[in-house]
Amino acid sequence: MMADFALAGKVALVTGATSGIGRRQAKALAQAGAAVVLLGRREAQLQEAVAEIEAAEGNAQALPADLSNRSQLPRIAERAALCFGAIDILINAAGVNFRQPVEEITLESWDTTLNLNLAVPFFLARELIPAMKGRGWGRIINIASLQSSRAFANGLAYGASKGGISQLTRAMTEAWSRHGITCNAIAPGFFPTELTAPVYENPELLDKLAAQTAIGRNGMLPDLDGLTLFLASPASDYLTGQIIHLDGGFTAK
Ligand code: NAD
Repeated sequence: MMADFALAGKVALVTGATSGIGRRQAKALAQAGAAVVLLGRREAQLQEAVAEIEAAEGNAQALPADLSNRSQLPRIAERAALCFGAIDILINAAGVNFRQPVEEITLESWDTTLNLNLAVPFFLARELIPAMKGRGWGRIINIASLQSSRAFANGLAYGASKGGISQLTRAMTEAWSRHGITCNAIAPGFFPTELTAPVYENPELLDKLAAQTAIGRNGMLPDLDGLTLFLASPASDYLTGQIIHLDGGFTAK
């Protein structure tokens, strides 16, 4: 049998889908035939992202929600499953990076970072696992970072969360992959989003980062599509527990 990249009949939940990487991934999944629930806090942007997918004949629904209160995650997971049915594919793309010098990190900024970037992907996924187990198939896709394996200036809390997400991905695999649920992480290089706006405002730094890649340029949002569809589809049934660097060869050099 040839590799199966079909997503028709699958239901995906994408967090952080109002902007950047999550929004792009939601669009890619919908174009490949999945019904997609877009979760985000900003309702206007969320509706705009849904409208963009629907204009391309895709199936999407907005799920306005703030992920920061972990006690609300069971309710959020229930609301997600009311849109198109039980969730088959979860992409944990919501994230924050406060870029604080070590001395300026507060208890609050540390907790916000570790909560949203590390705890929420686990506790939200765990809510969706029983339904995935029931069907013997599921996908968890986390978003790691260059900072999962490297230290960057002003990245201490963010790096801790992203180092954590790599190991969380492996631990999720150990817990859930025997039930047909694969758990992988995409570790992007530098892509133009709200999160990296401070980097993109500094052309010198951008050029330096591009030069650090093997390919010679920074990421563009469409670069995410192929790997996202592969990890979301049955084509990747035997791939699990991996942190895949989508970075133009940044970490290879
Ligand atoms: P982004 O800021 O566009 O996306 C992050 C999204 O998360 C935003 O829409 C934001 O509103 C949402 N979010 C933040 N707090 C939330 C909350 N409490 N509840 C719900 N949503 C919330 O930036 P992005 O670059 O698209 O980031 C997506 C993921 O990719 C993040 O995990 C980030 O760490 C990771 N990442 C990005 C890059 C890059 O170059 N852009 C590189 C490596 C990793």
